[in-house]
Amino acid sequence: MAETRVTIIPGDGIGPDIVDATVRVLDALDCGLAYDYAIAGQTALDKGLDLVPQETLDMIGKNPVALKGPITTPVGKGFRSVNVTLRKYFDLFANVRPALSIPGVRSRYDNVDILTVRENIEGIYSGEGQMVSEDGERAELRSVITRKESRRLIRFAYEAARRLGRKKVTVVHKANIMKSTSGLFLDVARSVAKEYDDIEHEEMIVDNCAMQLVMNPHRFDVIVTTNLFGDILSDLCAGLVGGLGLAPGANVGEDKGIFEAVHGSAPDIAGKGVANPTALMLGAAMMLDYLDLNSEAERLRNALRTVVGEGDKVTPDLGGRSSTTEFTDEVIRKL
Ligand code: NAD
Repeated sequence: MAETRVTIIPGDGIGPDIVDATVRVLDALDCGLAYDYAIAGQTALDKGLDLVPQETLDMIGKNPVALKGPITTPVGKGFRSVNVTLRKYFDLFANVRPALSIPGVRSRYDNVDILTVRENIEGIYSGEGQMVSEDGERAELRSVITRKESRRLIRFAYEAARRLGRKKVTVVHKANIMKSTSGLFLDVARSVAKEYDDIEHEEMIVDNCAMQLVMNPHRFDVIVTTNLFGDILSDLCAGLVGGLGLAPGANVGEDKGIFEAVHGSAPDIAGKGVANPTALMLGAAMMLDYLDLNSEAERLRNALRTVVGEGDKVTPDLGGRSSTTEFTDEVIRKL
């Protein structure tokens, strides 16, 4: 079997623990992966390096995929988010965030299955165009959304919907108020939708979407939206299926993917050995799918569904008493 090299970024806080746990599970799947380790974030700053060192960029550039632990973004001037930097540097234009109920996990609804596809490099969230006046009295925020990127992202969402046998794509926008930016996104969505007459096209204003998600999540299938709306709504979707501990995310470009958990570095539980690695393991399953290792991805998802669903070997955030290591041992047993 040809070896596929994966860049591993352990990250900060709980990152190294959940990354180690995930690498153990990938090794147990024995599917021909080899690893190159690289650092970023606080870990890099502590070593006197840049927030995202050039060696890390080079390493990610060399390999087809990376698995990334959560990264602490230092608060304050002069620090750009590591995530935003990586997404832009590698042109990872699509952020894919599935929210899928796991039977047995306590949550408000059962059988939720929503795929959010979020634009990943433009818009207000991308950090561009934020200006503060000399005297600090006035701040300005400019949002840039282009037809080209919107088309690429919305096509990606429709293609994913078709490939996964999904029935409907909901375009979420605020075109009634943000006429030029969100309006442009909606305009592009309408024209792309015409290329996919096998998939239902729906449009929804973002505030209404937030309410509808809470009231009746089952009416949603695939959501496609701009960067900031997608950031917020995908966390809402994670909340519908049991919280951030279960939510994975993929940053995908034309020829590369960086896979991660949606949650952050959880400084409040760092070093305690109790972090839930499920979200990152689900991110690793998305990575296996991306590498066409679909049966291994399914084995991993099934093992996670079993262990998390049974509920007696889970970490404290899911109401259990197991450590990260004990949970991981159980997942490996169930592969
Ligand atoms: P967080 O997601 O780290 O934590 C929020 C809450 O969820 C905390 O109570 C935490 O203990 C809990 N939690 C999160 N993941 C968990 C897990 N796997 N198992 C058990 N409990 C878990 O959010 P925050 O505290 O707002 O952010 C902390 C740092 O993480 C910040 O520096 C932020 O910038 C960064 N961050 C990074 C990413 C990323 O790298 N993808 C994403 C979000 C936040």
